[in-house]
Amino acid sequence: MVATPIGHMGDISARALEVLQSVDCIAAEDTRRTLSLLRHFGIQTRCIACHDHNEKNAAKGLIKLLSEGKNIALVSDAGTPLISDPGFILVRDAINRVDIHVVPIPGPCAAIAALSAAGMPTRKFVFEGFLPAKQAERQRYLSTFQQERRTLVFYESSHRIIALFDDLLEQFGAQRRAALAKEITKLHETFKVGELQQIADWLGEQEVHCKGEFVVILEGASQESDDADRIEARRVLAALLTELSVKKASKVAAQIVNLNKNELYQLALELR
Ligand code: SAM
Repeated sequence: MVATPIGHMGDISARALEVLQSVDCIAAEDTRRTLSLLRHFGIQTRCIACHDHNEKNAAKGLIKLLSEGKNIALVSDAGTPLISDPGFILVRDAINRVDIHVVPIPGPCAAIAALSAAGMPTRKFVFEGFLPAKQAERQRYLSTFQQERRTLVFYESSHRIIALFDDLLEQFGAQRRAALAKEITKLHETFKVGELQQIADWLGEQEVHCKGEFVVILEGASQESDDADRIEARRVLAALLTELSVKKASKVAAQIVNLNKNELYQLALELR
């Protein structure tokens, strides 16, 4: 399992190069991309395709080669294989065979690189990778993290980054702290750290800010802010409920306090 650069070619390890050079073949997510990496380092090892759409079949062929005593390196397009990338079926099937030895060759990983330089709490974190593509599903999924204390890590592409921030704002409020790590190790590497609203504003400032690859890090909920938000929400809701329905009061309160509409609706029901 060979990790490859996520942008900067200098990040490939000496051991990765040695392995890519010496194996009998390389199983690659995209053989064309891997061939250009190999060309860059003057390596001529043969490549076989192993991607999301053929992994089940490809794994069978690769396991056969491995059981015949061949050595195979698995690489993805960038970073560490299996981390939001193909390889799971191959590794699972390989380790079920006593005659096949699976070895990691560690190296770049966008999530870990982002965490290491964003200044966000890293003692405990949850890696969520890509969120559901459909907005309603994404909102529902994000809402399950309302009470999550650990730092959350997401992957996102350029065409959904604005939508992701819209959803994060709705679910976690404008003031929740976050970090945006863009184009890590590449020419336009940028880290933006601050409140969700500040980062969303920066993304909206210029079209070019939304171009590239992103890791989004969201600070977990804090006990104190949770408590303070709830106290404030109760105060505001109590006043609004004297004049408005539960539905209307929670909708208006969502514009004033740092809790989402669903939570406010539940609180309003309790207070009524
Ligand atoms: N296996 C890879 C790894 O170890 O990080 C991740 C592969 S996943 C298909 C691709 C996603 O990783 C991108 O959409 C982006 O969210 C993130 N990513 C990859 N390279 C990145 C970079 N240089 N800067 C920021 N994010 C990156």
